[in-house]
Amino acid sequence: MERRMSEQELLDSFDEALREGHIFVCYQPKINHSTGKMIGAEALMRWKHPEYGMQYPSDFIPILEEIGFISVADLYVFEHVCKFQRYCLDNGIDTVPISVNMSRYDVFRSKYVEELEKIRQKYEIPVELIHVEITESSAIGGMELVSSVLEKLHDIGYIVEMDDFGSGYSSLNVLKDLDVDVIKLDMRFLSGNVGGRGGAIISAIVQMTKWLDTPVIAEGVETRKQADYMQSIGCSYIQGYLYSEPVDGEKFLEIMTKLEHEPMQPVIHMTTEMDAAKFWDPNSMETLLFNNYVGGAAIVTYRGGRLELTRVNRKYMSELGINLTEKELLSSDPWEIADEEGKKIYQETLERAIESGNEEECETYRTVPGSDDKIWVRSSVRLIGRADDQYIFYVMVRNITAEKI
Ligand code: C2E
Ligand code: CA
Ligand code: CA
Repeated sequence: MERRMSEQELLDSFDEALREGHIFVCYQPKINHSTGKMIGAEALMRWKHPEYGMQYPSDFIPILEEIGFISVADLYVFEHVCKFQRYCLDNGIDTVPISVNMSRYDVFRSKYVEELEKIRQKYEIPVELIHVEITESSAIGGMELVSSVLEKLHDIGYIVEMDDFGSGYSSLNVLKDLDVDVIKLDMRFLSGNVGGRGGAIISAIVQMTKWLDTPVIAEGVETRKQADYMQSIGCSYIQGYLYSEPVDGEKFLEIMTKLEHEPMQPVIHMTTEMDAAKFWDPNSMETLLFNNYVGGAAIVTYRGGRLELTRVNRKYMSELGINLTEKELLSSDPWEIADEEGKKIYQETLERAIESGNEEECETYRTVPGSDDKIWVRSSVRLIGRADDQYIFYVMVRNITAEKI
């Protein structure tokens, strides 16, 4: 009889399930679609009840979370992954990093990371062979808590992947503050239809994540069309049924030994630059994201030493405490608010950004336009386009006056 267990049945059979291996781990490969090579895998929990049959994570995980059993289950999965890696190491099998899921309830457990470490050390697994996936929703419990867990994981050397990006809490600002190493973008949340509006959103998000220098893995990719599309916008890392369903350890070992491996690159640089012109169109997706998904940001144009603010978003105004209309601000001369030194620092940063093609940062002390107040501003600038002698930059700003004082 196949059927979903009730909460009580689940509670009653949990211990036995762990003991008897009714709860076990499946693995789903992560593939570089451009090369066909394997870059890693994700460990996913499965529960096959001897009487009620297969239970699905979407059914039983929320219950495990509710009754406070999730951490035990997650540690169990973690231990199984360690055993798997140990087996590979002992038998000279070339393995790949495997990510484990960390429930947001694990984030609340103060000793969770220490518990992971105890297990990893027991099996002597190099930290590079395990990644940790945290979900965006764990940020709901407070940024400080997640940040501190993230810091702990980073200090040990774990690569941390942001799971389910695009599921609703998405904000590139959260991402910028959370400092994760990899973003997992779930196609299912963005409507698998890459041709329509979903495609435009995915493409804009992928472009924005490039500015954060964070590689993206597209999850839930079922068709070649989806994978080709993701590749075309600079995201070739794919996890989904197209390549493989989650499979048990034995099957996974078979797939893993058949495929060549390659390490995940820190960033896949886009060859095409962002179409800056779209920022002028009030209805474009870029504009929508510009206003809603990032913090204080501006588009500036630089030509022969002259700087011009071309566009700013709402958060730019509030972050810097500017009490002008956008029009007033855009018609002002940005150099006016800077002293000679600030101007020099800023100019050098722009030049660096032109040269490197990467994000470059500086801190300047300047006057708030339209007032006498002085503030410290940290700017991250990135070249997004050029035409003849004119350079267009995307600038993210943060008011760091309080920090400085
Ligand atoms: P998730 O972390 O987002 O895991 C990916 C889910 O997408 C998996 O579902 C996987 O089987 C499914 N999937 C992969 N490729 C495709 C595809 O091409 N199409 C479709 N439609 N689905 C695809 P699964 O294994 O049922 O797990 C569901 C969720 O349960 C996971 O979502 C995760 O949030 C949670 N979960 C699973 N294992 C664990 C675990 O060990 N610990 C914790 N805390 N949560 C887990
Ligand atoms: Ca996951
Ligand atoms: Ca996911």
